[in-house]
Amino acid sequence: MTDQPTPQQVWNEMLRGNARFVAGEPLHPRQDVERRSELARAQTPRAALFGCSDSRLAAEIIFDKGLGDLFVVRNAGQVNSSSVIGSLEYAVAVLNVSLIVVLAHDECGAVRAAIDSTRMDAPTLPANIWRQIAPIVPAARRVLTADPEATPETLDAEQVGREHLRDTVSDMLHASELISGRVASGSLAIVGANYRLVDGTVAPEIIVGPATTP
Ligand SMILES: [Zn+2]
Repeated sequence: MTDQPTPQQVWNEMLRGNARFVAGEPLHPRQDVERRSELARAQTPRAALFGCSDSRLAAEIIFDKGLGDLFVVRNAGQVNSSSVIGSLEYAVAVLNVSLIVVLAHDECGAVRAAIDSTRMDAPTLPANIWRQIAPIVPAARRVLTADPEATPETLDAEQVGREHLRDTVSDMLHASELISGRVASGSLAIVGANYRLVDGTVAPEIIVGPATTP
């Protein structure tokens, strides 16, 4: 494991891939038949990505990655659960990834639904959809409370999204001793980042562990 890339090296690669995607100059690396055959017996992904299910957030495309590069977990609003934490622990402990990217985005429907649910006249949501977005509601309430003038209609959804992203990273650390232990020992970093739909840029919002944005 001595030749394992550092969290910083993996994050730099992710940023370079995103820069190619943003510039409209993707390499589409490692997507050929040779790569497919090479990987048939084992995978050694460089990073785990936990992001929103939004169809515009296609992980390998926006980071210009290929087969076997990213271990991807996604659900609506990138909301932690035992299934999510278990999958990420697998990526860290068994596949030895040194980076987890938690990827939120602007104009997120799950964040919007969480904000709307704080309205007095909010309609009741189907039970499973409600369970999915409920963990985002504290972030919406916090942003609402911070500004006495704010209403669910005028609330800055991007700010709620950023709060929820920070909650997600900190809840992940609390929920998993395995993940927080690797962060503490310096072998894992978590980057919480926000994706901008309009130009395709990935902007880090919070980084824990041994990585910075160059
Ligand atoms: Zn979303």
